[in-house]
Amino acid sequence: MPPKSILTPKPLVAGNWKMNGTRASLHEITVMGLSYDADLRRNVDLLICPPSTLLYPAATTALGTAIAIGAQDSSPKISGAHTGDVSPNMVLDSGGSMVILGHSERRTDHLEKDALIEQKASSAIATGLVAIVCVGETSSERQAGRTLAVVRRQLRGSIPRNATALQLVIAYEPVWAIGTGLTPTATDVAEVHLTIRNDLKKIMGKQQGEMVRILYGGSVKPNNAKELLSIDNVNGALVGGASLKAIDFMAIAETYRSG
Ligand code: PEP
Repeated sequence: MPPKSILTPKPLVAGNWKMNGTRASLHEITVMGLSYDADLRRNVDLLICPPSTLLYPAATTALGTAIAIGAQDSSPKISGAHTGDVSPNMVLDSGGSMVILGHSERRTDHLEKDALIEQKASSAIATGLVAIVCVGETSSERQAGRTLAVVRRQLRGSIPRNATALQLVIAYEPVWAIGTGLTPTATDVAEVHLTIRNDLKKIMGKQQGEMVRILYGGSVKPNNAKELLSIDNVNGALVGGASLKAIDFMAIAETYRSG
């Protein structure tokens, strides 16, 4: 799947380990590195976001593999009295280069709203991290025909105004598709991704908006990756469950192998 135009972004396949994994799991990153060869590296970027306890050892394990390591959240603050939080410069110091923000599990479990996610993204970007901002509708919002309105509101509310295409990634993750084995139709994914693309062009300017990577996330597996990743304006995937095992994660990445 070669880039279609000079502005088409290089795909990214990102793994979100959520609250899974201990040091024994780092072996999976070593195995991923073994099949991330020159052809794949040319065609697709890979990222693993382990829990914060594993950030530093994961970054150490990934050294020399070209697999990037990222966090699953970061604070809008840089330091201070914020018990339990991890700041973006701590992520950077641990060897992380990206951070997932506004995942639906954080929006639900921690009642995170768009304005907070925007602050987190601004702070992460100012620190030098790439912010992966997640958006997506719930099942009831989809059934009410509100998918595009919800995604557009989250997008406008959660992304920093001055972000450039290299500092920002958007992940469209329908909440009802996460961890359920359900996926939207290709037509539905295409509609949402085109809407996101058009809004990014309005917000960031035509060229920058064209170059932002828009990932699809929600039950991406080896058996559906080819279909989902070939949809227009899908520039990679955010993968949960299937990122825990190297064999599944790399089978998804293989979608981007030349020829
Ligand atoms: C996710 O957690 O971002 C996700 C997409 O999970 P899964 O792939 O397991 O649906």
